[in-house]
Amino acid sequence: MKYDVIIIGAGPGGIFSAYELIQRKPELKVAVFEAGHALEKRHCPIDGEKIKSCIGCKSCSIMSGFGGAGAFSDGKYNITNDFGGTLYEYIGKRQALDLMRYVDQINMRYGGEGTKLYSTAGTKFKKECIQHDLHLLDASVRHLGTDINYIVLENLYADLRDKVEFFFDTPVESVKMTDGGYEVICKDQTYVCEKCIISVGRSGSKWMERVCKELRIPTKSNRVDIGVRVELPAEVFSHLTDELYESKIVYRTQKYGDRVRTFCMNPKGAVVNENTNGIITVNGHSYEDPAKQTENTNFALLVAKHFSEPFKDSNGYGESIARLSNMLGGGVIVQRFGDLIRGRRSTPNRIEEAFITPTLKATPGDLSLVLPKRILDGIIEMIYALDKVAPGTANDDTLLYGVEVKFYNMEVEVTDKLESCYKGLYIIGDGSGITHSLSHASASGVYVARNIAESR
Ligand SMILES: Cc1cc2nc3c(=O)[nH]c(=O)nc-3n(C[C@H](O)[C@H](O)[C@H](O)COP(=O)(O)OP(=O)(O)OC[C@H]3O[C@@H](n4cnc5c(N)ncnc54)[C@H](O)[C@@H]3O)c2cc1C
Repeated sequence: MKYDVIIIGAGPGGIFSAYELIQRKPELKVAVFEAGHALEKRHCPIDGEKIKSCIGCKSCSIMSGFGGAGAFSDGKYNITNDFGGTLYEYIGKRQALDLMRYVDQINMRYGGEGTKLYSTAGTKFKKECIQHDLHLLDASVRHLGTDINYIVLENLYADLRDKVEFFFDTPVESVKMTDGGYEVICKDQTYVCEKCIISVGRSGSKWMERVCKELRIPTKSNRVDIGVRVELPAEVFSHLTDELYESKIVYRTQKYGDRVRTFCMNPKGAVVNENTNGIITVNGHSYEDPAKQTENTNFALLVAKHFSEPFKDSNGYGESIARLSNMLGGGVIVQRFGDLIRGRRSTPNRIEEAFITPTLKATPGDLSLVLPKRILDGIIEMIYALDKVAPGTANDDTLLYGVEVKFYNMEVEVTDKLESCYKGLYIIGDGSGITHSLSHASASGVYVARNIAESR
């Protein structure tokens, strides 16, 4: 069981590492170990009828398996250095963009052709936003949609399966150094490789922390993003989403000077549960196929929380807030904006009577009992600011789901080759803390694969 390269994790980072290695050095013996299921076996049991909310499966099909956390995502590949990670700090801005474009070309070849590439270049909304102290970030975004994203993954797997050895439902327990390589230890067997790429994503954050401790790889961690998912009638944002698809808008609050930003906008999409290490938070996605679209648009409003000494556990802070919402609501809480600003909880009746149908079955409640005042004040201020460029955002019936938390993996110390302090041990994708998106994670995979191929 000896390999030239072992990749841990079959998310976008792992898949694109494998893809590029095989392109450059087809003679290499490469294996991919994945804790979750093969793509066709990934099914979230929530059907909205028999099973209405998360039942905490041993392996969460939303977060794990071939395709990683991205498999049922909206498939928005943002080609930008402005958000989605800080890969450019390691490999340079131009190279980062080139790699993201390269990933886009591959996605087009494997089933994405015909999908639309949106861009903020030359848009009139930039001016309109700035007139209201809202700042629209620059990006091109390829929207594959959940359906086409799945097809691309199917095609990539069909191509890779004969060239790379895949081990599904095989979580790696630990990684050990040997003379001239690494031992990858699973429950029943140990595998040996010369080079190892770790790409375990957000769901592997705790595992990654442990491995870094065991191998004494330096890390730092001080950020978590906390907020809500907003859902409103698609018409409210249609002038922005029709042209840009996703608009990343940043606002600095007048009250505290905090930055609040829109994140992961899903026109005509659906709000979904997300399970991270047993904690239920909220997320969203949308389909390219009009038949599967809804009448609502959703996006997150997030506030970044940075901590200074002596506190180090930023994810623990985010988890505690999410746990509070799980404790009060048994999962995700939903509240009408009108109820929130009147200081009253939403009830099933008030949600029922609203002029919008929620796309996620969540518990009507009171988000002010969950979110810290400073964060909630920032979100409310931003909703009023957005109302100026998208009137209707601050309507009473706008739905807020909480909580949405973006956990950032602790940042692992790596070189400009994304190599840890040990030669041949690479740490990439969201698991490295450097990327937080499909495009950046995929690009980091291509980058290390090229470095490995060149070094041989
Ligand atoms: C619902 C949802 C929607 C999203 N929408 C978008 C979007 O539209 N655009 C965007 O840019 N980003 C989106 N994201 C984020 C995006 O999916 C991630 O940034 C991206 O998948 C990161 O890729 P990765 O390869 O680093 O990690 P992941 O995709 O998280 O893959 C890591 C893989 O490693 C496996 N693993 C973990 N630990 C181990 C172990 N010990 N042994 C073996 N395997 C292990 C996991 O099972 C997982 O499959 C979304 C995320 C979610 C959950």
